[in-house]
Amino acid sequence: MNVDYLRISVTDRCNLRCIYCRPLGGRDFIEHKEILRFEEIHRIVKLFVECGIKKVRLTGGEPLVRRNIVHLVRELAAIASIEDLALTTNGVLLETMAEELKAAGLNRVNVSVDSVERENYKRITEFDLLEKVTKGIYKAIEVGLMPVKINTVVLKGINEQDVAALARLSVEMPIAVRFIEYCPTSKYTKPTSDYVASAEVREIIERKFGPLSDVLVGGTNGPALYFRIRNSAGSIGFISGRSSIFCQSCNRLRLTSDGKVKPCLYSAHNYDIKKLVRAGADDRQVRDFLKKILTQKSNFTKLNSPAEEFSMQNIGG
Ligand code: SAM
Repeated sequence: MNVDYLRISVTDRCNLRCIYCRPLGGRDFIEHKEILRFEEIHRIVKLFVECGIKKVRLTGGEPLVRRNIVHLVRELAAIASIEDLALTTNGVLLETMAEELKAAGLNRVNVSVDSVERENYKRITEFDLLEKVTKGIYKAIEVGLMPVKINTVVLKGINEQDVAALARLSVEMPIAVRFIEYCPTSKYTKPTSDYVASAEVREIIERKFGPLSDVLVGGTNGPALYFRIRNSAGSIGFISGRSSIFCQSCNRLRLTSDGKVKPCLYSAHNYDIKKLVRAGADDRQVRDFLKKILTQKSNFTKLNSPAEEFSMQNIGG
């Protein structure tokens, strides 16, 4: 598989406290001095691009809470060989920032929304901000951060009842609504038993809207499989990280906010690029390190990774 996609967690801080993501235990954030600085991220990305990375996504924590994030977007957008520069956000700050993000060169956004019912949104995220997020989604569409994709993690007894209303958004708007299987990450987040398989989510949608179309896109461009509700403006996606294995088609690397490159979300193995960069390595040395990571990536898969605890905030989903 050609590895051409880099996801970067630019911070482990977030302005929401989603029940499936944050450790319930506390706020043991990474120290500021350990977080990669913009010039370090820019240099690492530039060298990664020289090694074949073409798609870059900023994530977090919440990327829009990182101070001067628009500046980083502008710097990355200026790297000529990046074909797709995207960002995953909870949408809270999107209404105010969408325009400047677009102007800085961001191509598109994915917005996480786990319920379109105000009280339930608040229960899941701890904040009464659904209206703000909805305005952010409209703003993103208006300024052309397209295609906008909605990410929903489905949890048993928490938001299964919201699936149909979320799916309906794809009927009314030219957006992709993607249902993500919950991945238990630590003893502090929700238990494994709260996971809902994509097949069950699909059944809920089909009971309401009738059979989904045949697969529109899938397999070659990320883990999502896309379908359509009849006569809809957008599409429905399923990301089935728990009930299926897509290591064979995995084209991504992850750069954590504290400067580790992870070859596989599920593997404890990582490469400490920050240490190399801060030790004063020149571009050739960093490039050689990145090439080594790229050639070794396929050694790390979900199947050969023993279960471990990790922080989604630091890795970025
Ligand atoms: N704050 C941003 C957001 O809310 O989209 C970006 C960071 S968040 C960690 C990135 C993605 O990871 C979101 O779509 C979120 O729903 C997903 N995510 C977080 N924890 C997850 C988990 N335990 N299982 C599956 N997906 C998860």
